Amino acid sequence: MNIKNLILKNKRIAICLVVALGFGIAGGASNMPQADYNNLVVQKEQLDDKIIALDKQLEENKSKVDELQAKKDEAERIAKAEAERKAKEEAKAKAEAEAKAEAERLAKEEADRLAREEAERFAQAEQNSNYYVSSGSNGGSVQEEAPIGTMVWLSATGEKYHSRNNCGRMNPSKARQVTLESARSQGFEACSKCY
Ligand SMILES: [Zn+2]
Repeated sequence: MNIKNLILKNKRIAICLVVALGFGIAGGASNMPQADYNNLVVQKEQLDDKIIALDKQLEENKSKVDELQAKKDEAERIAKAEAERKAKEEAKAKAEAEAKAEAERLAKEEADRLAREEAERFAQAEQNSNYYVSSGSNGGSVQEEAPIGTMVWLSATGEKYHSRNNCGRMNPSKARQVTLESARSQGFEACSKCY
C-alpha cells in the first residue's frame, strides 16, 4: 500500500529528526545561544506533533484499508455466489428443456401408437362389416337388425331389393349393389323370396 509506505517513510524521517534534535539539544545546550536552543525545542515539539498526526493518519488508513479489503472480499463473495447461482440456473434450465423434449417425444410416440391402433381397429371394423354384409347374402334374415351400411342388390328392372344378386330370374351381371337405406328411400321393398 503506497500511502502506508509513504506515511511510514515520513514517520521515520520525523523520528530521525527528533532523535537528531534531541542529541543536538542535549549536546549543545551548554554552549548554545538561548534563542537557538528555544528554536530547536519548538522544532522538536512540532515534529513530535507531526509524528502523532502521522500515527493517527496511519491508523485511519489502516482501518480504511481493512474496510476496503472487507468490501472487496464481500464483493468477491457475492460475485462468486451469483456465478454459482447462474450456473445452477443454467443447468436447471438445460435439464428442464431436455426433460420437456423427452416428454414431447414420448407424447408423440404415444399419439402415433394410438393413431396406428385406431387405424387398425377401423380397418378391422370395416372388414367385419363387409363380412356381415356378404354373410347376409347367404339368405339369412337380416332385415330386422341390419347394421348401418348393409348392402342390398337391385335387379335391372324389378321393384324389390334382394339379399343376393341371383335371386329368382334376375341377371347377376346386370344387378347393382346399393345401401339398404338408399334402396328403401327410393321406394324398393324387400324381396319375399330372399328376405
Ligand atoms: Zn330376392
